[in-house]
Amino acid sequence: MPNCIFCDIAAKATGAQIVYEDDSVVAFRDLRPAAPGHALVIPKKHLEGIRDATAADEALLGRILLAAIRVAELLGLSERGYRLVMNQGPDAGQSVFHLHCHVIGGRRLAWPPG
Ligand code: 5GP
Ligand code: ZN
Repeated sequence: MPNCIFCDIAAKATGAQIVYEDDSVVAFRDLRPAAPGHALVIPKKHLEGIRDATAADEALLGRILLAAIRVAELLGLSERGYRLVMNQGPDAGQSVFHLHCHVIGGRRLAWPPG
């Protein structure tokens, strides 16, 4: 996928602080963390957002969530809690169009989100 920063990170063509990787996903620290613990879990396969996932991606979606749980453990967020977020489209403020799951924690998070 040309001009996709997250494909570049997955391919190691662009640097990132990778915290977890397996055959189908990569997780790395967010460049502009919204909390003390903030990482992104992405599939190595390029999908623009959650809206583009199909039944063929069923296992991949499970892998993303299982990786997010693992990343939260690795970042030390599990005990106090954390939030998993997937922003889809303009109203949600999606800014990178490669599916990603935010893992956010390490401070008290407000609800509902802004
Ligand atoms: P979105 O707003 O699309 O849900 O989230 C995109 C996230 O990607 C933002 O939190 C932003 O800080 C992060 N981000 C954007 N570009 C880069 C980058 O090049 N490297 C890293 N590590 N994070 C990025
Ligand atoms: Zn991509």
